[in-house]
Amino acid sequence: MKTKVAFSEKCLGYGTWHIEGPQRVKVAYEILKAKGYQFVEPTPASEDDLLKVHDAEYLWNVKKGLVEDPDTPAYDNIYEFARLSVGGAVLASQIGGFSLMRPPGHHAGIRGAALGNYTRGFCYMNNVAIAIRVLGKRALILDVDGHHGNGTQEIFQGDESVIYVSLHQSPNYPGTGFRSEGNCINFALPRDFGGKRYLETLDKALGMVDLGKVEVVAVSAGFDTHLGDLASLGLVEKDYFEIGKKVALLGKPAFFVLEGGYAGENVGLDVDSLLRGYEENL
Ligand SMILES: [Zn+2]
Repeated sequence: MKTKVAFSEKCLGYGTWHIEGPQRVKVAYEILKAKGYQFVEPTPASEDDLLKVHDAEYLWNVKKGLVEDPDTPAYDNIYEFARLSVGGAVLASQIGGFSLMRPPGHHAGIRGAALGNYTRGFCYMNNVAIAIRVLGKRALILDVDGHHGNGTQEIFQGDESVIYVSLHQSPNYPGTGFRSEGNCINFALPRDFGGKRYLETLDKALGMVDLGKVEVVAVSAGFDTHLGDLASLGLVEKDYFEIGKKVALLGKPAFFVLEGGYAGENVGLDVDSLLRGYEENL
């Protein structure tokens, strides 16, 4: 039984000129459709849900188009696009699915830019963080995007109910995550680190997690670790199968939320590889 994919074509409606543009998700959607995945349509997250993570004034400013930085423009209606992307993550958390929505979320902190950064790295609302707060369960967030999820770390640092694990390329945007801090376990890795060493590091990181404290695993599923992408760690399609397998072997309910990954064909094939690795090892 294939993992269901939360997706709405509405998420393709903005930012055609941007590297975080609709093509990356549209092409991935077409690949997954051809492979027989079932899609479910999310509804926008409620404002109450957004407030479980974000500051009210920040949300108001996003709604009014008042927050903008060079990476993260104040597009028309971006508040609604972001709210629907959060809805995708919430839906994925409810069905153990994969949210194939944009904009991504892991750089969005409580008030937008997190941990001393000015730019928000294409993110408006922290999809994974809100889904976990709505679920209200003790969670492991496994962030396999090639960038450090500084927003997610800011939101959950010191929160005993969440363990955050990130493997990311360094040095790179956002210039955080050089070391582990409390409940946030970080591995900063050099560009094109390579699949074999990456998977060994992932084993080491997961070995540091007290699974007795975990009720659900949320995967911040970024694919910009793919060879040649923005935060390449030299991974190729088959490596994502192994990541999915490791998630399954944790023996906990899991869900997945798209973060980065900027070459649509790779994203589609890598999502399929990840989900096959997950399903075949449940
Ligand atoms: Zn990234």
